[in-house]
Amino acid sequence: MKEVKQFQTESKELLNLMINSIYSNSEVFLRELLSNASDAIDKYKYLSLSSNGKMPILDGEIRITVDKKARTITITDNGIGMSKEDLINNLGTIAKSGSKDFMSKVKEAKEKKDLNIIGQFGVGFYSAFIVANKVEVETKAFEEKGYQFISEGEDSYSIEEIDKDSQGTSITLFLKKNVDDLSYDEFMEEWKVKSLVKKYSDYIRYPIKMLVTKSKPSVDKDGKEIEGKREEYLEDETLNSMIPLWKKNKSEVKDEELNDFYKSKFNDYDDPLVSLFVNVDGKITYDSLLFIPSHAPYDLYSDTYEKGLQLYSKGVFIKDKCKELIPDYLKFVKGLVDSPSFSLNISREMLQQSPYLAKISENIEKKIIDKLKGIKNTDFDKYVKFWNAFGEHLKFGIYASYGGKKELLEDTLIYHSLLNEDKYISLKDYKEHMSKGQKYIYYVSGENLDAIKMLPQIEKYKKDGIDVILLDQKIDEFTIMMMREYDKTEFKSISDENANDLSAEEQKKIDDTTADSRRLLDTIKETLSGEVDDVVISSKLVEAPVCISTKEGLSLEMEKTLNEQPGGNTGAKSIKVLELNPDHDLFKSFVSIQDDDELVKKYASILLDEAMLLEGRDVKDRASFVKKMNELLVIALKK
Ligand code: ADP
Repeated sequence: MKEVKQFQTESKELLNLMINSIYSNSEVFLRELLSNASDAIDKYKYLSLSSNGKMPILDGEIRITVDKKARTITITDNGIGMSKEDLINNLGTIAKSGSKDFMSKVKEAKEKKDLNIIGQFGVGFYSAFIVANKVEVETKAFEEKGYQFISEGEDSYSIEEIDKDSQGTSITLFLKKNVDDLSYDEFMEEWKVKSLVKKYSDYIRYPIKMLVTKSKPSVDKDGKEIEGKREEYLEDETLNSMIPLWKKNKSEVKDEELNDFYKSKFNDYDDPLVSLFVNVDGKITYDSLLFIPSHAPYDLYSDTYEKGLQLYSKGVFIKDKCKELIPDYLKFVKGLVDSPSFSLNISREMLQQSPYLAKISENIEKKIIDKLKGIKNTDFDKYVKFWNAFGEHLKFGIYASYGGKKELLEDTLIYHSLLNEDKYISLKDYKEHMSKGQKYIYYVSGENLDAIKMLPQIEKYKKDGIDVILLDQKIDEFTIMMMREYDKTEFKSISDENANDLSAEEQKKIDDTTADSRRLLDTIKETLSGEVDDVVISSKLVEAPVCISTKEGLSLEMEKTLNEQPGGNTGAKSIKVLELNPDHDLFKSFVSIQDDDELVKKYASILLDEAMLLEGRDVKDRASFVKKMNELLVIALKK
């Protein structure tokens, strides 16, 4: 006897929303129904295994059947099936919190007219109504009668007992009519079904089968091929690959398989530089497969680049680019996470709030960094390749965490250095080669390595054989500033006014020279006021007559970087000190005329200009610089 029942109020609401609101991602219906089928087989398997042989053990199987004439798609499983009560409770009611949450989100989105986000939720059985105006469910549970459930997605549904021998459920969708640009025909095409299964349900553990059209050469009555003539025939094909690569034993997966997987899944032409299996079984259980590309993705630095890992639950695809799974500074990492801790119907907001995501992300971050450290220790050339492509990001990780990630990341850092020109060294290497009594890890920054090597303040270090880390990326000094020290040794910029650790004797020489040239220093300082904050006798210079140093805080490079930020001049200003080389003839000449204030004033600006040029900067006033140089040249050439 056919019974007609009203949907529970909330279900009705959901149905309406479903029918009227979801345009953007109609294809998710197949994923939802295939996942339900797979869950149903899981449930039957579980019960039959614990039934002491009462329930026969079955090989789970899901089948998709398309009937173009009738415009139907049927999804059949041999899973647990539903009793009449189950049908009413499961399909006539929304008891599931995921669906409830979905509904409130849809309402919110509708109010905000943001319909785009709707398609991103898992929506379960009701998603059938995205593409169908009528859904027919035939089902039979173990030792139960068969039932048919029919709904046209309006207020009511009907339930009727039917003859059904085979256990399980088949759900038939009667596709909606095409309206304007909304066509549902595509879902009946073999290629479309295949591609949807591949995209969303490839790793469902049971075979998803479909009769597909194949062709073979026709043969005559003697069994000989007729040239140029082919005939079509139907053959059962399993559309999904079933075993997720990431669930396989790592040793069983060939490099080639892994590389192909990466390239096809993440659209890269090149093999990944690093691939990493992570399998965690504990409080949170998940499997992850991670890749570091061999080069930066072409759009990594564009605003539209989206970081994130794919999220699966029990082999079923939930979300692309789940950004909560990977910290910003590892945004170049590609891969996926599969965890049974997430339900398919989880909404975006709930996903974001899930404590699991943060835990998994933290865990993955550690694994990636450990892997990189491992490569650094065992295959340094490969590490350098990685570093050249992505090293900057790790530095950014330290900076952006205000040093919070220092401990995790400090041993990933490698740098060029004064004494190891072409080779990168780690901070550990640096420390191991520090000279006796050396108090600091010295560094210096500049535009590029060539410019840095010409900086005047580096001369003394070269002469004394003290290594200096060469920083040529904008982020470098900011990172160092956040780190402050490495393994209890402080960093010190050699451009710092007080970089040198002087002996008492050296200090006395500086003090004496300063006292003897007091008037000169004061006059120069007065002339250059506003441009430099102090003028001092240098302990750093060998050949060069002058250099610029800065007091604690911003260096010249940092000042430049900050002022080059998008948004223009930030007003960041370093405190500059002009240092004079007391052993240079130029200084000696200036001292000899130090009582002639006017003459000192006239040429003081050239000292600063020279220092700026040596720093790789521009002079402040080019016209005035040229004029003064010419005056001097005229005098020199007259001789
Ligand atoms: P969810 O899958 O999140 O529970 P659905 O709306 O997709 O929500 O399904 C509701 C319930 O209907 C499921 O929990 C399940 O008990 C039942 N169900 C759906 N599809 C099937 C199926 N193919 N076989 C057996 N039971 C099913």
